[in-house]
Amino acid sequence: MVVFCFLVDQTRKVNKAKPVAGSCSRCQRGASVAEIVTKTRFCSIPFYWRSCKAIVCTFCGATLKSYT
Ligand SMILES: [Zn+2]
Repeated sequence: MVVFCFLVDQTRKVNKAKPVAGSCSRCQRGASVAEIVTKTRFCSIPFYWRSCKAIVCTFCGATLKSYT
């Protein structure tokens, strides 16, 4: 059932970023706390999504810390 691999895709979207104290370990720029929504689609129909909070770098996009 190799076909399934091509029909399933996942998108990641960052919502509501707001600045937080601290800096990125990679580029030393400002970090933000954001809500990350991960959507999994099968044949373009979303069937599973979840959101989690994470501290991400606004500059390079690195995830510094995530909360489940
Ligand atoms: Zn960074």
